[in-house]
This record gives sequence, C-alpha cells and structure tokens, in this order.
Amino acid sequence: MKITHITSEFSPFAKAGGLGDVLHGLSKKQVEDGHHVSVILPKYDLIDIKVFDSIEIYIQDLWCYENGNEFHNTVYKATFEGVTIFLIDPDHLDYYFKRGTIYGTEIDSERFLYFSRAAVEFIRKENSSVDVVHLHDWPTAAVAPLVHNLFPEVKKLVGAIIFNIHNIEHQGKIPPKLLTRIGLFGASFLSKDLLMDPACDRTINLMKGAIIYADKVVTVSPSYAKEITTKEFGFGLEGTIKKLHKKLAGVLNGIETDTWNPEIDPNLTENFPVNSTFILDILRKKEANKKALLHSLKMEQSTSGPLVICITRIASQKGPKLILHAIEEVEKRGGSFILLGTICEKPLEKPFLALQEKYQDHKRIHLSFTFDDKLSHKLFAAADALFLPSKFEPCGLTQLISMRYATIPIVRKTGGLKDTVHDKNSAYPTGFVFEEQTEQAVDGVLEEVFSTFQENTPLWQKMMQNGLSRDASWKYPAQKYEKIYESSLHKKQVPQ
Ligand code: ADP
Repeated sequence: MKITHITSEFSPFAKAGGLGDVLHGLSKKQVEDGHHVSVILPKYDLIDIKVFDSIEIYIQDLWCYENGNEFHNTVYKATFEGVTIFLIDPDHLDYYFKRGTIYGTEIDSERFLYFSRAAVEFIRKENSSVDVVHLHDWPTAAVAPLVHNLFPEVKKLVGAIIFNIHNIEHQGKIPPKLLTRIGLFGASFLSKDLLMDPACDRTINLMKGAIIYADKVVTVSPSYAKEITTKEFGFGLEGTIKKLHKKLAGVLNGIETDTWNPEIDPNLTENFPVNSTFILDILRKKEANKKALLHSLKMEQSTSGPLVICITRIASQKGPKLILHAIEEVEKRGGSFILLGTICEKPLEKPFLALQEKYQDHKRIHLSFTFDDKLSHKLFAAADALFLPSKFEPCGLTQLISMRYATIPIVRKTGGLKDTVHDKNSAYPTGFVFEEQTEQAVDGVLEEVFSTFQENTPLWQKMMQNGLSRDASWKYPAQKYEKIYESSLHKKQVPQ
C-alpha cells in the first residue's frame, strides 16, 4: 500500500512527546512490512540533518496560499531508517518553523494550518495516487476538510483519510478567520454538523473537522476509544465521537524496539538482555547502570528503598499534584526519586521549581526540567520503578518502555495504562495499579511498592520477567492499522 503520514513530530529528530515515537515506530514497521511509506513534516530549524541517511532538495518551488499571498517552499527528501521523509521548508515572513521549537509559540495555529495546506499542495504537485493519507492530532487535522472541500484533484488521488487521535484534550480551537487564511471560508463551516466547536458557536474546532471528514478515526488504545465517548474524557467532542462511533477504532501503540533496546542501547553503561530467563544477569547490569547514573547526578544509592523515576511532560493530564506528593513520600520512606520533566503549563512552574529548590543537593532526590532523550534512556535502565499517575492517558509509552528495561511501572488505572499494566495481584502481574486520584491512593500503592521491593523479591522479579516477556513491538499494531486501511478503502463513510 502507498501510505503518506502527515505529522508535526517524528522521533528522535523532531520529538516533543509520544507522537514522535509513534510516527517513528509505526512508519518504520510499515516499511518493513513492504508498504511504500512517506512522511510529510515541517523542516523545523531544530532538526539536525546529520541524523538522516540521505537528504536532498526534492522540489524547489512548491507554492502555498495563505491570506491572499502565495508563499514559496522548498521540499527536501530525506531517508531515516528506511523511511522516506519529506520536509517542507517555507520562505515565510513569520519564520514559521524557524523558532527553535515544535510547539509553544503564540502562532501555533497559523503555523500548523499553513503546514496542513502546504502538505496538501505537495500531494497535488506530486500528482500520484496514494492509498492512505494518515493524519495525526490537531496540527494536521485541517488536511481532511481541505482535501474534501478545496482540492477535488487530491481527493481523487487519495484512497482514504485516516485520522489518529493521540490526545483529545488538544483540539485546535481557532477563530474562523484563521481557517479562512488557508482558503476555507471559516464562517461557512460554523455549523453543528461541520466544524463548529460544541461549546462555542463562533469557534472552529479542527479536530472535529478531521473526525467528520476522515474515513476512519483511530485512537491509541481500546480503553481510550471507549473513554472518549464520555463527558469525563471527551473534552466536549464526546457527542461527535458517539455519533460517528462506527468509524472509530482503538489500536494500542507499540514501541520502536531498536531504539528502546537495552541489548544495544548506546546510552547505557552496561547493556543487558531483554530475556527474562537471564534475570540475575539483568539485575547485575541494571545495578551497574544505577551506580553510574547516581554518580553522574551526584546522588547516593538508597540502602533500603527502590529508585523510582518519572519521565513526563508536566501537565495537568499527568497528575502533577500526585507526582509532587510521591516525590515527598518516596523521600520519607528512604527511597530515591528522579523526575525528568518538561513543564508545559505555567501555573505548574512554581510548585515544581520550589520542590527542586527544596531538594537541591539532596542525595536521593533529583528533579530536572529539561527534555533529555539520552538521560531518559539511562533512567529507564537504572530504575527499579516508574511512576505514572495520569488523570487520563490515551496510551502512554513510558510504561511500555520501562517494562522492556525491567523497570516496574506504577500507574493509575486509566486509558492505555489500564490496557497495558497488570496489577501485582493479577494472574500475570507486571506492575502496580491504583485507582483513585488521591494522595491516600498514592501512599497506599507506594506502601505496596516498598514492601514488595524490600520483602518479596520473588514477586518483584516475577513482575520484571513478565514485563520483559511482553511483546510491545509494532508488529501487531501495524497489522491492525493495515486492516483498518483496507476496510476504509472498501467502505467510505464520509460526507461526499
Ligand atoms: P505524551 O503524552 O507526552 O505523548 P507518552 O507517554 O505517550 O506521553 O510519550 C512520552 C515520550 O516522551 C516518551 O518516549 C518519553 O520517554 C518521552 N519524554 C517525556 N518527557 C521527556 C523528557 N523530559 N526528556 C526526555 N524524554 C521525555
């Protein structure tokens, strides 16, 4: 099949979170499965082009309309681990992708609307048929209404449009005039069955537009697919999702098992096998990784408690209050805690920076607020447990990565966490699961974690082994996507 992903992230060279990991892992697997895959991405200035196996100018003169002007773009063709990547580089007065960041500018909506239109212009210019155009989250959602309403020639070239919801919280809510900027007259889409936001009749909702115009909508775990039909998790789009539930599916994410492979991971002090029968060897080598990591961070090893890590965006979705509480609680119990997080919401800065100051130079507690991919690999390898108390979690990748690095996840029972971690008391335990979003629930689960770590080595090791034996690769998810692509090619469910 000929598959084109249009995305704002691709790991490792343009990664802000799990979306980048998913694009890397899924597209690479699709290439291995024999598909003809290409990925369209903005050419951010932060991309280090040295990572590519090859890169060349592919199109010198791609023109893209915006707000009465035509802007010139260069398209680069690169290859990364067998995947063809097209990087769109606009000569734009607002330096859209030359801002040292993927997200977080005041004009993110304008930037990604422009990119969406430029991607469609690129497909038009290529003028060759594509079986599936696969869109990801709000930044590329506008592609679906653009193709259906403004580019009839692209509509003829494309077999099906698939829209992936990686996180329904961020929907791309914009004033209609921003849609008009890219050529779709915003006001004419302000109706309930089109792009009007369910909560505000003067706002355009890009994610809603993609849900309506895509042939299939896929979210990243079966539980999250159910959850987003409810008021609690749907962020206002539950009505739209319920109405169109026939085209909704949930496919659990995988992880890219060459990148996340303790056997060959170049960031580790000592590599170790991903084979549960070598548990003693694994334990010894994890210990060496722990020692080196703690030394590099000027920390000391706890004599009794586990090393707990948390690698996350710090946002209300991720349960920030419970993270703060867990750090204090682990400290009191004599364990170690390392937080590697990027603070994504301004109000969260104060409490997290205050805690960082409180534990400055502490020997068992370390808080770091940067995005550091290499350090994240070292943490997964060195830790005993990973803490993830999300309020909601579409899939979650760090619990999958941690199991592959023999680090036991401690998670709240929601979304993809519910689908991937089996509690200590289950038949096939892989971690610790708690339900309530309360400090008492965190205290309770940490009590279990500490007592199991200190007094029940056989169970601790069993959980490690079960986690290691789990196939978290893209093998099965990629097969499921293939089936979804095939079925949507046969059965179109969009307004014509
Ligand atoms: P998200 O909701 O952010 O997409 P996921 O669990 O799906 O959460 O994916 C997060 C990905 O980003 C994981 O690969 C994780 O290791 C990585 N990550 C998150 N925060 C950081 C950080 N501060 N430094 C390095 N990697 C990070």
